[in-house]
Amino acid sequence: RTVYVNGEYLPETEAKVSIFDRAFLMADGVYEVTSVLGGKLIDFDGHLARLERSLTELDMPKPKAFDELLEIHRKLVELNGIDEGMVYLQVTRGAPGDRDFAFPDPETCEATLVLFTQNKPGLAANPVAKTGIKVISIEDIRWGRRDIKTVQLLYPSMGKMMAKKAGCDDAWLVEDGFVTEGTSNNAYIVKDGTIITRNLGTDILHGITRAAVLRFAREAQMKVEERPFTIAEAQGADEAFYTSASAFVMPVVEIDGESIGTGKPGDVATRLREIYLEESRKAGI
Ligand code: PMP
Repeated sequence: RTVYVNGEYLPETEAKVSIFDRAFLMADGVYEVTSVLGGKLIDFDGHLARLERSLTELDMPKPKAFDELLEIHRKLVELNGIDEGMVYLQVTRGAPGDRDFAFPDPETCEATLVLFTQNKPGLAANPVAKTGIKVISIEDIRWGRRDIKTVQLLYPSMGKMMAKKAGCDDAWLVEDGFVTEGTSNNAYIVKDGTIITRNLGTDILHGITRAAVLRFAREAQMKVEERPFTIAEAQGADEAFYTSASAFVMPVVEIDGESIGTGKPGDVATRLREIYLEESRKAGI
């Protein structure tokens, strides 16, 4: 696999980042994951805009190649022959000479930029979307700026492991009694035809797939309510699903051992998945 590091395209075994890189020492980095379908980038503009926002919120300098990001994404997709898969991008505050809590001077410390691809043949036709997935609920103990897409992913990783141990696929995080989001996705329920998902704020990531799916839902005259919901409300819903750039729209059929609706992927989730895949392929760049 060819990867990109600070201006160079290299074999992955030759790519190197300093041990003083602040993402390595302090999780001082942000990232984006953009899907590739039919060799085209999905929702690229949204991911780029969110990256810029994450950088601004953290007062992190833009990498030198910021204006070339589309070109770099495309080149990696081409070099690695990706038809279906992902492009992972990470920007860090860089590698100052030594470890220090204070941010380094941006004049002397340049951002680190790393991109690599992940080949996922069959991503769109994922058979799991036909059966749906099971989630557990766990307490949301992450930091309070979940709207910034940082590489501080230890608790979401732990959540995923707790889910696996319980024989499930993912965890929905609960704060003050209400679902915030999934470990790596935005959470939704459907009741009497209305799609319910938590409103945007600093407590959840502003999903790029969420924005697209809600737009398609409204265009298809589906009702949408952006508000928090509880696990009990979700368990009594007709359907549940989640969205993310790498899983698109994924039906959820069980929460904490309770079947949702018929226990099978619901019509709304299934339809939204189809619309999302169709429209995104058309709009891919
Ligand atoms: N919430 C969290 C915590 C995430 O990690 C992700 C995916 N990175 C999402 C939501 C979904 O965002 P997107 O649709 O932009 O992938």
